[in-house]
Amino acid sequence: MANAVVPGSFDPVTNGHLDIIARAAGMFEQVTVAVARNSSKTPLFSTEERLEMLAEVCTVYPNVTVDAFEGLLVSYALGRGATVIVRGLRAVSDFEYELQMALMNRRLNSAVETVFMMTGADYSYLSSNIVKEIARLGGSIEGLVPNSVGQRLQQKLGKPRC
Ligand code: ADP
Repeated sequence: MANAVVPGSFDPVTNGHLDIIARAAGMFEQVTVAVARNSSKTPLFSTEERLEMLAEVCTVYPNVTVDAFEGLLVSYALGRGATVIVRGLRAVSDFEYELQMALMNRRLNSAVETVFMMTGADYSYLSSNIVKEIARLGGSIEGLVPNSVGQRLQQKLGKPRC
């Protein structure tokens, strides 16, 4: 069985991410959830905060570890002994970017294969951005993120949830 990396921003981790992580944990021997340090996005949570939140919710999966990376993902994956990159697919809108990244990563190093998993039906509309937006506006994010993440969001944004 191969080892896999599940890369992303995870700003913050949502139940949609967790669904993908849980399914990857069932398919691969060792799974590394890898937080990108060099993302062009301006994150709400620091890399360390994102790692802490992920570590908390991933403790239930004995073969999942959490780490941060910078630089080329394919080099990072091979350095971790992983030959598979797992990405989640939601709507058609994800497809174009994901296709571009997967083809570029294969061109950079064909020893690493990108594997796509379809989103869980309950999470197809869920993204870290929409969760942050709802939390900012004071809406309920219950069921969208783990409780521990909901509490952190509340602290960070200083908003009560309704
Ligand atoms: P990135 O910033 O690289 O898009 P994200 O943190 O947004 O990273 O997401 C990491 C991975 O999780 C991506 O493959 C993304 O498609 C996937 N993902 C995010 N939300 C969901 C969801 N609701 N269902 C399935 N996959 C998801």
